[in-house]
Amino acid sequence: MNIILLGPPGAGKGTQASRLVADRGMVQLSTGDMLRAAVKAGTPAGLKAKAVMAAGELVSDGIVSALIGERLDEGQTGTGVIFDGFPRNGEQVEILDQLLAERGQRLDRVVELTVDEGVLTERIVGRFTCAQCGEGYHDRFKQPAVPGTCDVCGSVEFKRRPDDTAETIATRMAIYRGETAPILPLYEARGLVHRVDGMAEIEQVTAAIEAALDG
Ligand code: AMP
Repeated sequence: MNIILLGPPGAGKGTQASRLVADRGMVQLSTGDMLRAAVKAGTPAGLKAKAVMAAGELVSDGIVSALIGERLDEGQTGTGVIFDGFPRNGEQVEILDQLLAERGQRLDRVVELTVDEGVLTERIVGRFTCAQCGEGYHDRFKQPAVPGTCDVCGSVEFKRRPDDTAETIATRMAIYRGETAPILPLYEARGLVHRVDGMAEIEQVTAAIEAALDG
């Protein structure tokens, strides 16, 4: 089963994708994570993407589609793929259709996480992750049980995304509204969209997504 998790920055796509990976053996393909890895590794794609990402704008369709295509070709797709942060505009919808068709695959569901825009900035500016295992935390909503120590792996190093600032968030939200939200009607016309309330507790959101996948 191949699905897209769609929603604005801070809706919880990454959090929910990790939970689906753990619960169902699916594989998360996050273009944001792939781009951050490319930036860190200093690859040609990463060098091109760095400033664009720091500004909260969209990296070129060619770069992200190449990253996704490579990952699909590696063939380690588990029980299905969760596209997280891709597609983000109409062009990318067509690219994904093509990438899947070329590999004899199809898209089964598009899960839209709906959230109240007012909470997104607070969710985003407070978030941080363990530098070692990637576990997610939040200044207000989820501090490690022992301050400064990761609950999962015991690491004492944490990191924040450089684009999680109030200024960049405004750009990212505007792009979501202007370019990404308009792809929903395309998928609605195909009967693929399931809406899930992303304001509920994390576990409830996961349960609602699972119900949408199984329904
Ligand atoms: P994310 O981790 O999904 O919030 O993505 C972080 C940043 O990576 C975005 O603000 C964009 O600059 C870039 N990015 C991630 N996915 C895409 C995509 N599908 N198309 C273009 N740019 C992307």
